[in-house]
Amino acid sequence: MPYYMCATCGTQYAESEQPPEHCIICEDERQYIGPNGQQWTTLDDLKREHHNVFTSLLPHLTSVVTEPKFAIGQRAHIVQSPSGNVLWDSISLIDDATVEKIRSLGGLKAMALSHPHYYSTIVEWSHAFGNFPIYIHSGDREWVTRPDAVIQFWDGDTLEIGDGLTLIRCGGHFEGSTVMHWRDGADGKGVLFVGDTMLVVNDTRYVTFMYSYPNTIPMSAAKVQHIVDMVKPFAFDKIYDAFGRVVTEKGYEAVLKSAERYVKAIGG
Ligand SMILES: [Zn+2]
Ligand SMILES: [Zn+2]
Repeated sequence: MPYYMCATCGTQYAESEQPPEHCIICEDERQYIGPNGQQWTTLDDLKREHHNVFTSLLPHLTSVVTEPKFAIGQRAHIVQSPSGNVLWDSISLIDDATVEKIRSLGGLKAMALSHPHYYSTIVEWSHAFGNFPIYIHSGDREWVTRPDAVIQFWDGDTLEIGDGLTLIRCGGHFEGSTVMHWRDGADGKGVLFVGDTMLVVNDTRYVTFMYSYPNTIPMSAAKVQHIVDMVKPFAFDKIYDAFGRVVTEKGYEAVLKSAERYVKAIGG
């Protein structure tokens, strides 16, 4: 039986004879169903006309994106760590060329997810690399559309998944919205991978915070403040977001001043 995949958000569902009736992720007010209604595809279909592009960003850091653009244009990051490589967030397309390329970078030991808009084909990725653990905060458990034994739900505020690789649950956009701190990245100045818990804006000295980006629903002052409080104990210079934008320096200060101006703007 096929594993159907939502064409709008790229999320794969548990195997079924017929496509599911709805995509729970797209029906939610933080996403959308396209003007042509709910569309389904499969990984095999996706493989036919798409491929992945790898870009080296920093020593020990590579991004992976699918071209031409699929779903919401997700992007994953491979962090090469002495304690094992980690895939931060995920994309829907995984094919033989992708597996081969990642093997040449040392394979993968684990995957961590920021939030449900990146659930894509996470189980396929794990199975392709020897069933590595997939870390998802338990606050987002209800959004997992293809349950599997490789998914490890975690609780609390932080989880160390490798030497100097820490997951930080910030909430806000989703109950379990998580960022990842890479202590040794950027020559030891630190890197923060934020998914869209915050998003780097056109003026890349700043980030913003939204409950829904596609539908531009803002976030409350209290939730923004909570995100700041959660990342405050960590040192980081660069911020990589979900869609390829980067704060190239003074990332920590960028979060503080961005939160301050945001809260002021919403009158909180
Ligand atoms: Zn969807
Ligand atoms: Zn999102």
